[in-house]
Amino acid sequence: MEFKMSLVVPMYNEIDNVDFFYERISEVLNKNNYDYEIICINDGSKDNTHARLKEIASTDHRIKVIDLSRNFGKEIAMSAGLKYSRGDIVIPIDADLQDPPELIPSMVEKWQEGYDVVYATRIKRDGETFIKKVTASFFYKFIRRITKIDIPADTGDFRLMSRQVVNAVNNLPESHRFMKGLFSWVGFKQTSISYLRDARFAGKTSFNYWKLWNFAIEGITSFSFAPLQLAMYLGFIVSIFALIRAFFLMINTLIYGNPVPGYPSLMVTVLFLGGVQLITIGIIGEYIGRVYGESKRRPLFLVRETINIDIEAQQQEKELYKL
Ligand code: UDP
Ligand code: MG
Repeated sequence: MEFKMSLVVPMYNEIDNVDFFYERISEVLNKNNYDYEIICINDGSKDNTHARLKEIASTDHRIKVIDLSRNFGKEIAMSAGLKYSRGDIVIPIDADLQDPPELIPSMVEKWQEGYDVVYATRIKRDGETFIKKVTASFFYKFIRRITKIDIPADTGDFRLMSRQVVNAVNNLPESHRFMKGLFSWVGFKQTSISYLRDARFAGKTSFNYWKLWNFAIEGITSFSFAPLQLAMYLGFIVSIFALIRAFFLMINTLIYGNPVPGYPSLMVTVLFLGGVQLITIGIIGEYIGRVYGESKRRPLFLVRETINIDIEAQQQEKELYKL
């Protein structure tokens, strides 16, 4: 069967990986005689990533480059790549070679068996700290618990998607894009293959714990109302305790009279309630902030330059997405 493949590669300060990535991926793709395009999104890198991509693109027209106007973050960079992709199948892949390109042929086989999404599940993560592994696994468990959609655990963005799925994702209007969630939300026939996740080839991860924490909040608030409901349940629990305590105090006073009124218990109650209120207001704030973000209706990303993207496709983009 003849088909065209698009690889979507977000890149942020990946100068040390670009060449090796290009070599390794081209080797796999050429060996299998695929008809492919590699869409590299330069996500506002501060190093020479863009210049190097440009050089490669001038010798190989299958390399297409989208230069974003600034750093928009991986999720948005990936969205940009998906919008420019033209393949019958699309595979987002990291530039640091943590996702082995050698898996692509087996993903394609699954697609040919009739699956729309083939995601790759890591069974081992090399070169990542113990804390990152533990927090990541906790996050996946938690999010699966509180959302209705089935976000597979230990699965990155590395997956094969059919054109139908990519179009569905492209047409989702939200600007808060937790891609893993969106990929699952659209549904279709999904399956998985397992692999060992390698350590980064070069460079450092750009996700520190603060970024990961925000990423987790994004994922949870994008797909679940549970935290909002938390306020209600906390309220119930606190009220019930308060009622029980009031009852005991009443009995106590009836039997023993009222000696010194309790300053400590008062203080604890006030502080506890204050804390609960602040937490719940904070949670509501998270959601309101997102509603505000969506209501601004800003474009997802701005493009400074594209290379090897044909004019026709660009015009189509302009009409479709009002870039
Ligand atoms: N990335 C990006 N924009 C960012 C941060 C990261 O496009 O703001 C890209 C990065 O170049 C890489 C991929 O996203 O190709 C994964 O990033 P990283 O390896 O830092 O994340 P990790 O593997 O630690 O989750
Ligand atoms: Mg990485």
